[in-house]
Amino acid sequence: MAGILFIISAPSGSGKSTLVNQLRSLVNGLEFSVSYTTRPPRGSEEEAREYHFTTRETFQQMIEAGEFLEYADVFGNYYGTARQTLDDAFARGRDLLLDIDVQGATQVRAKVPEAVSIFVVTPSPEILAMRLRNRSRAEGKIQDEIIERRLAKAKQEIENYREYGYILVNDILDRAVEELAAIVTAERVRRQGGEITADTERLIRLAEGCRQKN
Ligand code: 5GP
Repeated sequence: MAGILFIISAPSGSGKSTLVNQLRSLVNGLEFSVSYTTRPPRGSEEEAREYHFTTRETFQQMIEAGEFLEYADVFGNYYGTARQTLDDAFARGRDLLLDIDVQGATQVRAKVPEAVSIFVVTPSPEILAMRLRNRSRAEGKIQDEIIERRLAKAKQEIENYREYGYILVNDILDRAVEELAAIVTAERVRRQGGEITADTERLIRLAEGCRQKN
């Protein structure tokens, strides 16, 4: 039986990487998709761990060969998820988590309507702006232009939040991690059934609190 496809998107500065890293240590059977990108590695990033780093030429060839489940141009670089990544995870009976932007999420939803999508937001726009400034400063990119560009992209992404099944407010980290893990558990129970213990019931309720109300 095919696994569950989870999509997580967030404007940069909303603390998504920390959340996702913590989720790794909390849930079993969930694989993390390693995307392809044309951007160069940053800091301690390693090939095939954070990304598959490729040239634009290779990426273009992959597009033409139809190898991507989705791809998008983010800040002038290409990012994409290979179909193979999904096929491999499902063949192993695992669930897969995609950490992709809003444009990519729209493409995946069109192809895999049963995908579970989660949008991470900061408690307020002011907090997002502050986190973005701190992060840009930490990266040594204090030019207003870069911060403004990231903020503009964040605003544009937030406008699309309604397309997501769950909204996760990243206020207190531990709480947000718990909610994220609860969403994964609740969706697994919903699709695969199984015994509902008092603990699972609590997690289902926690996940329900993050569900988008349209
Ligand atoms: P970063 O360069 O900071 O690692 O990522 C920049 C943005 O690209 C993030 O919003 C991240 O979610 C998004 N991204 C990473 N991989 C993919 C991908 O495979 N597809 C799409 N559409 N976006 C991606």
